[in-house]
Amino acid sequence: MVAQRLHTATQPHELHLEVAGQRGARCPCPQCGALCPAHGFTEKRWRHLNFCQHECWVTASVPRVKCREYGAHPVEVPWARKGSAFTLLLEQAALALVREMPVLAAARLMDITDTRLWRIVRYYPDQAVVRLELSAVRAIGLDETACKRGHHYVTAFVDMVAIAELTKEGLDTMTIWKPKEKLPWIRKARSPRAALWRITHCLKYAGALVGDTPRLEPVRGTLATLKTHTRHVMQRWTSTHTNARLEGLNGLFQSARARTRGYRSAGTFIAMTYLIGSPACSRLRST
Ligand SMILES: [Zn+2]
Repeated sequence: MVAQRLHTATQPHELHLEVAGQRGARCPCPQCGALCPAHGFTEKRWRHLNFCQHECWVTASVPRVKCREYGAHPVEVPWARKGSAFTLLLEQAALALVREMPVLAAARLMDITDTRLWRIVRYYPDQAVVRLELSAVRAIGLDETACKRGHHYVTAFVDMVAIAELTKEGLDTMTIWKPKEKLPWIRKARSPRAALWRITHCLKYAGALVGDTPRLEPVRGTLATLKTHTRHVMQRWTSTHTNARLEGLNGLFQSARARTRGYRSAGTFIAMTYLIGSPACSRLRST
């Protein structure tokens, strides 16, 4: 490192670290690795992790090597990948953040644009996928999953052998998707009478499917609850109130759940729901 300067004219202040290679040193060609003489320099700049509360930038005169075989190329620097305007450490921090929070929130927190953050987020999985070794895969399963509103779907492919090994004991749970699919059918009943008939039918059907499989005990519990409270469920068809508004808040609850992952208790979940969803918390100030 040859110089460091703190720019106080900008808000937040910027710390600039200047790095330079030794003049006259030979550098490896990025194509073939041969040590070649430098042939001119290009000034480059990378955003690095903040230093205290200051934005930190690394600048360097990157040598261009002139290789006999591959011609002139700028050398690759060890602190950033080719073509990126960020250091590897900053990219690592960005990836850690987006695992925990929405990309937009992470972009705001890091003070970089969401487009640039997405470029980082998309780069690494692409690289990982290219390196997947799939020649041993013998059977695949596939399913469509909605990726946004409207009919936009992503097809998910699963290695059936690997997943069977992972879920050897959990496959019982696959049988209960059928009764679950029947729930919308109950909901669409036109009259209380039709609803009652559909609920009874569904209970019988699900009960037979579930049988006495030990792992499906929770499902048996749910079915018993539905049976006990059928009369209350029926009120949906006679009351003028619906849960539609609350169901609209499902997205909020999902975000709160995602953010309390690993620390989940009713208390943390409620606190996070208030924090991200209640107008009460928009008035909070840290000072
Ligand atoms: Zn070369």
